[in-house]
Amino acid sequence: AQDLQKYTGIVEDCCCHYETVSLNEEVLHPQLQELVTMPFFRYFKVKLWCNCPFWPDDGMCKLRDCSVCECPESEFPEPFKSPFKCSLQSDNLVCQEGKPQATVDRTLDSKAFRGWIETDNPWTNDDETDNAEMTYVNLQLNPERYTGYAGPSARRIWDAIYSENCPNYSHGETLQEKNLLYKLISGLHSSISIHIAADYLLDETTNLWGQNIGLMHDRVLRYPDRVRNLYFTFLFVLRALRKASAYLEQAEYNTGNHAEDLKTQSLMRQLLCNPKLQAACPLSFDEAKLWQGQSGPELKQQFQKQFKHISALMDCVGCEKCRLWGKLQILGLGTALKILFSVDDQNHTPLQLQRNEVIALVNLLSRLSVSFKLVNEIGPSAEKLMGGQISAA
Ligand code: FAD
Repeated sequence: AQDLQKYTGIVEDCCCHYETVSLNEEVLHPQLQELVTMPFFRYFKVKLWCNCPFWPDDGMCKLRDCSVCECPESEFPEPFKSPFKCSLQSDNLVCQEGKPQATVDRTLDSKAFRGWIETDNPWTNDDETDNAEMTYVNLQLNPERYTGYAGPSARRIWDAIYSENCPNYSHGETLQEKNLLYKLISGLHSSISIHIAADYLLDETTNLWGQNIGLMHDRVLRYPDRVRNLYFTFLFVLRALRKASAYLEQAEYNTGNHAEDLKTQSLMRQLLCNPKLQAACPLSFDEAKLWQGQSGPELKQQFQKQFKHISALMDCVGCEKCRLWGKLQILGLGTALKILFSVDDQNHTPLQLQRNEVIALVNLLSRLSVSFKLVNEIGPSAEKLMGGQISAA
């Protein structure tokens, strides 16, 4: 515990760090890991082939692992299927290289989204109700990990995100609202870097994958603010999940597989109704206090515009798998923002979520939970190891 305290500097900021660590390790992490393997949560609808609106020459990554492996039709849960099935060759059932013509069922929505509304997320750039060119991806077949995507293309996206859309005002700027977007994106960036380092191609010739602790240390662990922002983003999304729990408890998790669907429903209830989650430590902020001052509405509008712009930048990510997870996680954050900031409790505007928003929210929380666990497990020992013995590849 002392190591962790020294190393992250988190504890002074948040009195409940240790409670959250144990809540994550004992409850959230195992439950979320199981939940995201269920049929309802493992298919994500995404527009992957899109033009980058900002730079015409968006780069490509170098590894096959960048390519998204789409869902063979035989894998779709029954209600996801279109009435117009095309015949499949057996070689369609292996990983595709992310070609637009790959076997993807794009006529699924009216059935697949039964019981769920069709609505656009006000925080993201893609129109979620526009089903043209949407692809269904099995997230379990496309884990977020090292892809080799780096260099100027990746760099200019992160640069554009930070410099144009969420500058860090922490030095001197006191308005909580102004720094919120920076903290959320920085926390997400930390999580992406941790997943890259946790599942890294250590040796290309032998195709050996494993943890690159040096990289994890260099990119995240040695920066207390990046660790803190990861923690903040995790709590933010958790807060949204808690706020939406009544809605999510009653939702239908229908994929046509009765046994699996019942299990999904039960796992969701276990997650949402867990007394430890209900009693979870004080929140890292109180959303009801935001956007209240005179400039509140204006700040909120600006925040929403900047977030949308970041969401649009995902179309410029020059590696399909990174784009997939970038879009999913930005939609997950957009969903958390919608739950926390677009639902007016006083005017009783009811919360309505689209199926894809729930899938994104839960998968994002699962990713953050894994990152948070890794930071707590590896962080303290990484610092000791970094006494010169290991370094990033
Ligand atoms: P980068 O991670 O590119 O960081 C750029 C700069 O941002 C750093 O120099 C630093 O100044 C700042 N910075 C870094 N971390 C933080 C933080 N947490 N908070 C604040 N500032 C920070 N690559 C993969 O291999 N797999 C993926 O799944 C993947 N997904 C991606 C998704 C998106 C949306 C993007 C834009 C890129 C993705 N990449 C992925 C690429 C990856 O994020 C890095 O850009 C790449 O590995 C090169 O890393 P880097 O060391 O140059 O630093």
